[in-house]
Amino acid sequence: MTVSPFALARTLGPAVASIPALAEVDVVVVGGGSAGCSAAIAASRGGARVLLVEKSGRLGGIGTAVLDTFYGFYTPGENRKVVGGIADEVVEALTAEGAAFIRPNTYGAGGGVTYNPETLLGVWDSLVTAAGVSILFHSLVIDVLQGAAGDEVTGLLIANKNGLSRVSARYVIDASGDADVCALAGVGFDGAETGEQVQALTTTFRLANVDDEKSRSFPKEQLFDRMAEAAASGRYDLPRQEGSIHRTPVAGVSLANMTRVENVDPTDVSALSLAEVEGRRQVGEYVRFLQNEVPGYESAELVGIGMHIGVRESRRIRGDYRLTEDDVLSARRFDDAIACCGAPIEDHTGGTDTVWKYIPDSGSYNIPYRVLLPVGLENVIVAGRCLSATHGAHASARSIAQCLAMGQAAGTAVALATPIDSSLRELSIRSLQDRLVRDGAVLENPALAASDTFAGRSTP
Ligand SMILES: Cc1cc2nc3c(=O)[nH]c(=O)nc-3n(C[C@H](O)[C@H](O)[C@H](O)COP(=O)(O)OP(=O)(O)OC[C@H]3O[C@@H](n4cnc5c(N)ncnc54)[C@H](O)[C@@H]3O)c2cc1C
Repeated sequence: MTVSPFALARTLGPAVASIPALAEVDVVVVGGGSAGCSAAIAASRGGARVLLVEKSGRLGGIGTAVLDTFYGFYTPGENRKVVGGIADEVVEALTAEGAAFIRPNTYGAGGGVTYNPETLLGVWDSLVTAAGVSILFHSLVIDVLQGAAGDEVTGLLIANKNGLSRVSARYVIDASGDADVCALAGVGFDGAETGEQVQALTTTFRLANVDDEKSRSFPKEQLFDRMAEAAASGRYDLPRQEGSIHRTPVAGVSLANMTRVENVDPTDVSALSLAEVEGRRQVGEYVRFLQNEVPGYESAELVGIGMHIGVRESRRIRGDYRLTEDDVLSARRFDDAIACCGAPIEDHTGGTDTVWKYIPDSGSYNIPYRVLLPVGLENVIVAGRCLSATHGAHASARSIAQCLAMGQAAGTAVALATPIDSSLRELSIRSLQDRLVRDGAVLENPALAASDTFAGRSTP
């Protein structure tokens, strides 16, 4: 059952002005996940006054609530590093605390940076507050205020324990993962709500008392075979017969990404509620399977379940450009490159396994600025997993390192636009690219580096 969103601001009309004003800033960032944190830091460091609004009480989004590995930093095969900047600062801070290590090329996604998510919470708190960002936790953005022309979002309505309030901003960064701001403002999007089959959801879990040596010496192919046998025996209900269970920076603790809840529209809260219960039910099955059937887990104990079920894909906005599967697999370069990605297409749409498609020769492609610009809005930019992409392209570009890079690009764009009061669409792309490369971003675009107007020549 999907319930249409209630357009509170439109229903209230002029009476909306009686809702208490909470803040007036240059930039509101909606969502404090990987993309939102990175965007807020970049915007604030660039001189804008930034408010970050987050519905939970913690930063990091899926990266702290659900999982523990950054993919997308390194290309599979060559292990070439294709993301830098703020993303590097996060990894450096985790490494300095002994809370991260690189897992080489496991499970086909390229080298992963596995970290302690509890440490990452503190790293995000420090980086975001040190950058001067104001944070409003426990607050859900429930509607947008728009000017008469409808091409700008002038403010947001926020609901929390204190009731309703309004914030006004010159620019809005929609890093909500679900593109809530864009959807509320009437931007077109694709996803489950439009009848597409989106990626399955997963509830992750952590086990302690794992015998690390023993579990690591049991090859993953044998693990998958044993899963298939166990499921076929009827003794365990294991909808997905592969997945990842890996060591973490804490000795004896492993994190498992194994459960699979299919055919859910993650923006339908009733369906999502059922999925939460089903995900946790499956956790029980996988834990029992691991304890009884897999070497190294005989004494393992369940010590953590993801804070919420993991949503890989919900709404993908209609942007000025739509990244396609062909762009990904042909390693396409764009003149308006703002980030780079070598991650394979990793599609968990359904069935018992996962579909992988690789960019040939350890290649990479560019993420263009236009996939962040929602059609019809001049002062809103998205970052993270709600980018404008087809289902296939999204299955590559959604990796956390790319979400961090998109966030840095979105935040830098609004920081550049603020002093000149520019539409985000009319911003000089060269200035944005120069600033990004100066700040550590990787673009891997030889044509740009050769161009006379491009100052950030270190990009290839
Ligand atoms: C099960 C699973 C496993 C994955 N495994 C990996 C992996 O191993 N490595 C990897 O690199 N990637 C992985 N991914 C993909 C990756 O985690 C995500 O694509 C990425 O974290 C998305 O980041 P984001 O910042 O765009 O969104 P999110 O992390 O979803 O952050 C969005 C934030 O916005 C907040 N929010 C939402 N709506 C509102 C609102 N209306 N008002 C206020 N706040 C709001 C949310 O609370 C959240 O904090 C996985 C994804 C899933 C689900």
